[in-house]
Amino acid sequence: MTTLHTLSVREIADGLHTKQFSSVELTQHFLDRIATHDKAVNSFVTVTADLALEQARLADDLRAKGDTRPLLGVPMAHKDNLCTQGVLTTCGSKMLSNFVAPYNATLVENIANQGFISLGKLNMDEFAMGSDNEKSYFGAVHNPYDLDRVPGGSSGGSASAVASGFVPVATGSDTGGSIRQPASFCGVTGIKPTYGRVSRFGMVAYASSFDQAGAFGRSALDCAYLLQAMSGYDPKDSTSVNKEVPNWVGELDKVASDKPLAGLRVGVPQEYFGTGLNADVKAKIDDALKVYQELGATLVDVHLTDPQITLATYYLLAPAEASSNLSRFDGVRYGYRCENPADLHDLYTRSRSEGFGAEVQRRIIMGTYALSAGYFDAYYVKAQKVRRLILNDFLKAFETCDIIATPTAPTVAYKLGENLSPAEIYMGDVYTIGVNLAGLPSLSHPVGFVGGLPVGLQLIGKHWAENTLLNTTHAYQGATAFHKELPKLG
Ligand code: GLN
Repeated sequence: MTTLHTLSVREIADGLHTKQFSSVELTQHFLDRIATHDKAVNSFVTVTADLALEQARLADDLRAKGDTRPLLGVPMAHKDNLCTQGVLTTCGSKMLSNFVAPYNATLVENIANQGFISLGKLNMDEFAMGSDNEKSYFGAVHNPYDLDRVPGGSSGGSASAVASGFVPVATGSDTGGSIRQPASFCGVTGIKPTYGRVSRFGMVAYASSFDQAGAFGRSALDCAYLLQAMSGYDPKDSTSVNKEVPNWVGELDKVASDKPLAGLRVGVPQEYFGTGLNADVKAKIDDALKVYQELGATLVDVHLTDPQITLATYYLLAPAEASSNLSRFDGVRYGYRCENPADLHDLYTRSRSEGFGAEVQRRIIMGTYALSAGYFDAYYVKAQKVRRLILNDFLKAFETCDIIATPTAPTVAYKLGENLSPAEIYMGDVYTIGVNLAGLPSLSHPVGFVGGLPVGLQLIGKHWAENTLLNTTHAYQGATAFHKELPKLG
């Protein structure tokens, strides 16, 4: 059973159903793989081995007694910014390094209700701020394709765990690309649904009007299973939208084998192919677009807001929301508290200075500045207006196309410890953040390798059109094999 970790979610579900293996055997296999290889990758902050095996035994018992939930006993893992009752939720931060949530996030609960088993919590950039996963209090995550390189961020633990075969699927969150960019760097598929599709209740807030959870898997079909499980209206999140969740998995089974993309108009925005885009990465994206055409799609020129403007807008608004959201971490109610405070002011100051890392502090300072009296109109209000214009440009583009295709990131994964400046790192988000400003669904899927490192193509859909993203990717993955590649570990 040494290849259990290469199976798709559907193959796992079938294997459990036909008793080729039990959930306990399956879970033990993944736990053994984590124990052997995760020292080098560092994708997990917490492995809940005992709890997972207990749940696997329960799943096997329930199945034997006639429980027919198809995903009963399938392993997965959660990004560590999702509250999990009785299990640490650190957010990759010293501030929450001892925080055990007293309740489950709604999406965690939804996934458990479908029978999935969580193997633990996945490493991330502190408070989901970052693009390289070097900003975790629990150490950097390593890219399984080259352990000297970054996995991307902030959901670098989720992407690297799926790529490494530690779990078939994992949750992530995406405020400005944190699912798509690490998916691209680690050669897996990652989808961020429409804002409002998945409840934010119990997901530690970074920038609330952008934050959205989503799914990582090796294929669109694997992602569809997990996304299906987690989505749905939640009255506990006022931005959750009461809209029926389509049967994405069922839709994928209907994708035609001959010319599956016939009639699909794929918008290609020139603004996302300009200077800054690595030429080899561009060549891989061009190749993938040719495959789309062979599958029946037509390419259409569209225009979007200059991504440099989008980048500036995001890096003003997201820190502003972060500075407000993170004000709750004061060393008093929960989280890290400094030793021997001299007085209340000292308690606040030192708890926050010692509990937050440099990048989080930088964002809090930028955001507080943008929100302060005298600057609010010039920065925050102005950026909100630009946000609307960015959305308008997307809506206009969608008048002539059904889906938009761009590179996910301008480069492949770079070296750990390269000491890039914050501005250089932010540039890596240039193609992903527009989607979050507009609340659109988006997905990254692998399209090949440059120098042995994966390249991802980003698809952007109309609001609520996750099905178009998944179906298009499924068609591509039916005709190509990049998503089946696995890194060689150890
Ligand atoms: N890299 C972006 C940032 O640092 C996006 C992070 C995210 O999506 N959580 O803000």
